[in-house]
Amino acid sequence: MTIYTGPVFEMARRQFDQIANHIEMPDDERERVFYPKRAVTVSCPIHRDDGSVTVFQGYRVQHHLTLGPTKGGTRFAKTVDIGEVAALAVWMSWKCALAGLPYGGAKGGITVDPRALSSRELEALSRRYIQEMIPFVGPHTDVMAPDMGTDEQVMAWFMDTYSMYQGRTVTEIVTGKPVSAGGTEGRREATGRGVAHLVGRALDRIGLSPQRSTVIVQGFGNVGSVTACALAERGVKVIGVSDHTASYYSPGGLDLSELQRHVACKGSLHGFSSELSIEPEDLMAQRCDILVPAAVERVITHENVSRLRCRILAEGANGPTTPEADEILDQRRDEIFVLPDILCNAGGVIVSYFEWVQGLQQLFWAENEVLSRLHGLLDRTFDQVMARSDRDRVSHRTAALAIGVERVRDAKRTRGLFP
Ligand code: GLU
Repeated sequence: MTIYTGPVFEMARRQFDQIANHIEMPDDERERVFYPKRAVTVSCPIHRDDGSVTVFQGYRVQHHLTLGPTKGGTRFAKTVDIGEVAALAVWMSWKCALAGLPYGGAKGGITVDPRALSSRELEALSRRYIQEMIPFVGPHTDVMAPDMGTDEQVMAWFMDTYSMYQGRTVTEIVTGKPVSAGGTEGRREATGRGVAHLVGRALDRIGLSPQRSTVIVQGFGNVGSVTACALAERGVKVIGVSDHTASYYSPGGLDLSELQRHVACKGSLHGFSSELSIEPEDLMAQRCDILVPAAVERVITHENVSRLRCRILAEGANGPTTPEADEILDQRRDEIFVLPDILCNAGGVIVSYFEWVQGLQQLFWAENEVLSRLHGLLDRTFDQVMARSDRDRVSHRTAALAIGVERVRDAKRTRGLFP
């Protein structure tokens, strides 16, 4: 019996069962390692611009407290529910443990389409949500960050509201803040730059040069757009991009600065071009060297996985590949090099960790220090995943998850069960 239901939570559970079998975890440890420690649901009423009142549902799931505070983003999206948030919290745990960060995983969210709110309404909702969460979060308890539908501005409102209640400025309560409000250099770009860095390692490993490679990016939000730019800087040709409104494909290469200008002005890719338009499903199936799903969960399924014609699948999103699709990818291991989500997009939470450390110490680093530490940690993690995959003859995903799950299990074993 569990309150966590739905396809995304099922997916996290299925993945965990496979890993638990692989590392031969005893049955009586499994529930303790997998099920979230705490879940909070809050109702957030706000005044609308037309004078009415709307109540939005908000959630926060804290997966485990064994290694330190919990850490993870806050998502504002129509699809948010407790099962999705719980799955994302579980994945954050494996991701933090894999990168060696002293955190458990958490995730939160509000069921809302943020684009349907005015900026005043968005501020009211952000402030009400964090205010409702005050008893459950803290710089040493649970530290939030951006995720889909939230950004630096929302983090600044979270930090300000929390600080007003404390009577002092507590920058360490959230990460992903603007630099002007105690954030770190390089956080906004961290996830996308991390994806590009790891793609560089993968290209190297399979003997492809960036200058002769092409990339298709699905999702043109913070992660997708920064990944596209960072890869383009390395000489990779961007031949396809999409978001929830449009998909474009051009084998000769797309003009990234034009695309960015369009998005900055219109808010999405919609209306950029009619000639370059392509069906979203067909975009994913085009031949390319690197495919980056950087939007939502469960986009690579048993139905479309056989159509993929990429050499590297770099998972910028959390949970983009279903376990059924993963089985097929596993059979295509020699053809497609998978950078699994908990490795591929770890740059975000790694630089969040740097931001938290800088905030606690009130000692701030230059951007090149942030970047070189980010690359160092990603390289170490990448090498560990490759070594484990070679040693156990398992997929990169199984290797990455096994390392993450084992570290959480080992910490729980060592600390023991109280009382
Ligand atoms: N939301 C991001 C993720 O899924 C970042 C989390 C964080 O920085 O704490 O990894």
